[in-house]
Amino acid sequence: MCRHLAYLGRPRTLASLVLEPPSSLLVQSYAPRRQRHGTVNADGWGVGWWAPDRPEPARWRAATPLWGSASFASVAPAVSSSCVLAAVRSATVGMPVDETAAAPFTDGTWLLSHNGRVDRAVLPPAPGAESVCDSAQLAAVVFARGATALGDVVVEVGTADPAARLNLLATDGTRLLATTWGDTLSVLATDEGTVLASEPYDDDPRWTDVPDRHLVTVTPDGTALEALQ
Ligand code: GLN
Repeated sequence: MCRHLAYLGRPRTLASLVLEPPSSLLVQSYAPRRQRHGTVNADGWGVGWWAPDRPEPARWRAATPLWGSASFASVAPAVSSSCVLAAVRSATVGMPVDETAAAPFTDGTWLLSHNGRVDRAVLPPAPGAESVCDSAQLAAVVFARGATALGDVVVEVGTADPAARLNLLATDGTRLLATTWGDTLSVLATDEGTVLASEPYDDDPRWTDVPDRHLVTVTPDGTALEALQ
């Protein structure tokens, strides 16, 4: 399983979200605390974010471990955004390890990350997928349906492949959508903004765990949970 994180709120630096917390995604790339499948997340990483006055997100992805990117460590404290999605990757056996297989995936408007695995044979054809990687194929299916159908797609795919693990995280810069289906997810809501993360990045007592098989929607107005069935 990979680890992922999304943020919506007042502008924060990429470093404050991804690198600086005591159990940040950077630390989770070599020492995750709650990971059930795999031990390290060293097969790549990606960060997507929105810059002012640009409707489409910017992305920086790599197929190497996050801890090795001195360039990102240098730039991340200098870039702030009100909406960020980031992931570190532990590749599923048989999946390619290159930049195009690293989340977040995009259709130009949305960003999407997947913690888990899925049998690609149960997915409809996804001609626009960025990679043959299962997560990229699944992202293309979600984008084709419209990202707001995230919960419906997870239920359908999870029914077709009962062994699938389908923790998804998606954003269009104005809201966060997430599903729990087989792995952990936590929420931290503060006056500054809301973070969704595979696991808490610090020991703030305000983190709460999302139950399995739920859809989470975060907007500037708050966070809503809905059971998936
Ligand atoms: N199946 C995806 C991949 O190979 C995600 C893996 C994961 O969640 N560890 O990249």
